[in-house]
Amino acid sequence: MSGAREIFSGSFTQQEPIPEEAIEAAVAVMRSGRLHRYNTEDGEVAALEREFAAYTGAKYALAVASGGYAMGAALRAVGIGPGDRVLTNAFTLAPVPGAIAGVGAVPIFVGVTEALTIDLDDLEAKAGEARVLMLSHMRGHLADMDRLMEICEAAGITVIEDCAHTMGAAWRGRMSGRDGLIGCYSVQTYKHMNAGEGGLLITDDDDVAARAILLSGSYMLYARHGTRPPETAFARAKYLTPNVSGRMDNLRAAILRPQLRRLDAQCAAWTARYRVVEKGLRGTPGLAVIKRPEEETFVGSSIQFLLKDWSEAAVIEVLRRCAARGVMLKWFGGAEPEGFTSRYDSWHYAPSTPMPASDRILRAIVDMRLPLTFSLDDCALIARIIRAEVGAVWQAA
Ligand SMILES: *Cc1c(COP(=O)(O)O)cnc(C)c1O
Repeated sequence: MSGAREIFSGSFTQQEPIPEEAIEAAVAVMRSGRLHRYNTEDGEVAALEREFAAYTGAKYALAVASGGYAMGAALRAVGIGPGDRVLTNAFTLAPVPGAIAGVGAVPIFVGVTEALTIDLDDLEAKAGEARVLMLSHMRGHLADMDRLMEICEAAGITVIEDCAHTMGAAWRGRMSGRDGLIGCYSVQTYKHMNAGEGGLLITDDDDVAARAILLSGSYMLYARHGTRPPETAFARAKYLTPNVSGRMDNLRAAILRPQLRRLDAQCAAWTARYRVVEKGLRGTPGLAVIKRPEEETFVGSSIQFLLKDWSEAAVIEVLRRCAARGVMLKWFGGAEPEGFTSRYDSWHYAPSTPMPASDRILRAIVDMRLPLTFSLDDCALIARIIRAEVGAVWQAA
């Protein structure tokens, strides 16, 4: 039962096929020839926006070309421009500082805790340095959103949430993306709905919604949006907001609508897989599983664990041994960013000073995707392999 000779043969990058219902809807859009966002009076993209607004409880939703586009539009919609400073996570993915730099603004990095959430003490200390926080719920870990919102409200900071990994998650029952002024989501292949590329933005704010719609390339056809603020909000913004085309097309929206209907079931399936791996890893000497707060309803589409204060050579040995048995782990501590593992000091366009406490955690983070093509048995096998290989390297050290 040690699992010493077991090998895992699944693919960590293999998602499920697009549901048949979605394929049929996509084919119907293609047969119609009407793919552009304003090529029909009330097409798939407008319907997706209405349905996503209803799902999240937001007044307005806008479907766009990518999660990065949603974040860039959100920043512009709250008036962030060249030279402005924006607080954001030191532990996040490249599109987040990229969206800030993309509007000419400058990221101010806030540290990470052992729970893999934004360090709220560091946030409080830096609160005077910017008027906007681009909060990334990296790898689906939610910070204490009650305290975070208190800090930001007290300091007059506008919160934009990057919910690329928390679509379907909640803090004390409040859906992720609903605490901030704006919530941004990604529907790129590795997120919770798969359109290849795409993003969504939600808000309750009339002016933010009007600006985001105009920005996304409404060609003054904004009255056709299914979720839209009153004309007065457009009147305030329509001569001042540049057109930066980026609204989603009908084809991708058609693929997404059936996926939205089963999103909650998919999220539950991810979390069931997460729980199996977590259970299998718990108690492994030298390895710390991440503590999940009771207030958090998370989506376990990936799992992280910490190899705290391990030498670089030992971590690399664990990764090598696991890879040899088919388990592909990513490490945020490498000298060079690989694939998706960049961190604040990888983004040389954004100046940063060393953050020793965060560096210690970043160096410990090992990360793994859990695609829904893995069965629960696969997940138990993966955990046995990691447990055995971490144990072997730990004992040798
Ligand atoms: C994927 C991702 C985004 C958005 O990415 P796009 O590829 O632009 O859709 C934003 N933040 C995080 C943390 C992500 O992983």
